[in-house]
Amino acid sequence: MAKPIVAIVGRPNVGKSQLFNRLAGKRLSIVEDTPGVTRDRLYADSDWRGRDFTVIDTGGIEPSNDNEILQFMRLQAETAISHADVIILITDLRTGVTAADQDVASMLLRSGKPIVLAVNKCDKPGDPPAEFYEFYNLGLGEPFGISALHGYGVGELLDAAYEHFPAADEEEEDDERIRVALIGKPNVGKSSLLNRVLGEERVIVSNVAGTTRDSVDAAVDNAHGKFTFIDTAGIRKKSKVDEKIEKFSVMRSLLAVERADVCVIMIDATEGVTEQDTKVAGEAHNAGKACIIVVNKWDLVEKDGSTMKEYTLRVREGLAYMPYAPVLFISAQTGQRVDKLFALIHEVYEQNHMRIPTGRLNAILAEATARVQPPTDKGRRLRIFYMTQASTCPPTFVCFCNDARLFHFSYQRYLENQIREVFGLTGTPVRMVVRERG
Ligand code: GDP
Ligand code: GDP
Repeated sequence: MAKPIVAIVGRPNVGKSQLFNRLAGKRLSIVEDTPGVTRDRLYADSDWRGRDFTVIDTGGIEPSNDNEILQFMRLQAETAISHADVIILITDLRTGVTAADQDVASMLLRSGKPIVLAVNKCDKPGDPPAEFYEFYNLGLGEPFGISALHGYGVGELLDAAYEHFPAADEEEEDDERIRVALIGKPNVGKSSLLNRVLGEERVIVSNVAGTTRDSVDAAVDNAHGKFTFIDTAGIRKKSKVDEKIEKFSVMRSLLAVERADVCVIMIDATEGVTEQDTKVAGEAHNAGKACIIVVNKWDLVEKDGSTMKEYTLRVREGLAYMPYAPVLFISAQTGQRVDKLFALIHEVYEQNHMRIPTGRLNAILAEATARVQPPTDKGRRLRIFYMTQASTCPPTFVCFCNDARLFHFSYQRYLENQIREVFGLTGTPVRMVVRERG
């Protein structure tokens, strides 16, 4: 299931975006609209030799001086080391090897991750110029001369990256575990929760077998099953939150969402749902992931008999696009209800993977359309012929109908709710796809 991830790292202006766009081609991920959610275009799906992979561009920041360049390149490299299976370091033939290139090359080398070195702006096909050989000094093996602009050498570069993709069966082994991402704004309590989960449950914290991501993903095995907490380094690491650096933590969190099966969305009980929370949760929703809303620091809230109920309503208002997600009130600090988390993770994971037989779906459809008539417009009535589940993760239903324009969002929502009700489907987004058939 998980696709190999290729990260592009390099100084500003070496051509990272150019290469990213070339690899992404027309396959840039299509972003769904959820109000209040924007999705940075930092990763895209691509394929090479029949193998799908995700490419991420860790750039996109304009540093103002050499010091900043170095600082950003380190953050870039760190992000890539956390998430990528293969890292492409891009350099620039025209500027030659710089001190920043050297610094990052040695950092990448120490990580033990597979690295492929590209020398960009080799715009003339044929033998490389003399300057090219200087790049051997980076100690990353044979450099690949490319022109991201014209496309020369990109195939050979991808061949080299492809050689490092994890074997397909290795990925499957990884898949037995439920991959969990803890997401939320700084100071919400992600590292506190992680520490509690890793420390208290008398878990086996070990490297996840068969992955090259062992340094940053933590395995937790307990009575509820096998789990992998994603990018624990990104969660634990405290960087001074500077506006530009913040972009890297956002990127890390997006990548964690992308790799996760289940997203635990953390809200600070003392602050309620903020705009930033809405954004972060929207990423998980749009990515079709199973979701749990965790309200943390519950120990700090003054309570009476109805506090939890009222609070739940407010959370639902703030995250109106995910009415399906269970809400759990915890304290990472005291440990209150943290033990409930694993059962919930399991539950929403199952829901995200649920398959509903076509026969049962159409029985629901018949009943639902009898109860509430489909909409009409100018005497023409929507007719839904049948419905089938096309895929899981998230459950995606295809409805065949006479006229898609009549199939209003509210009626789709009505059908979705009928399905949810009958199958007790919670904890996962659901997609409805409308197809016309004459
Ligand atoms: P980034 O900052 O690393 O993302 O770099 P960009 O992709 O934005 O490219 C920086 C500049 O280099 C742009 O003006 C590109 O047009 C140019 N550029 C990128 N790739 C090539 C290439 O292969 N050859 C040449 N001649 N220019 C390139
Ligand atoms: P992160 O930035 O999301 O990883 O947040 P941290 O785990 O570092 O927590 C930020 C601050 O909130 C720390 O001072 C924690 O001690 C505190 N904190 C975290 N969880 C709780 C909680 O459940 N209750 C209380 N009272 N404080 C908490």
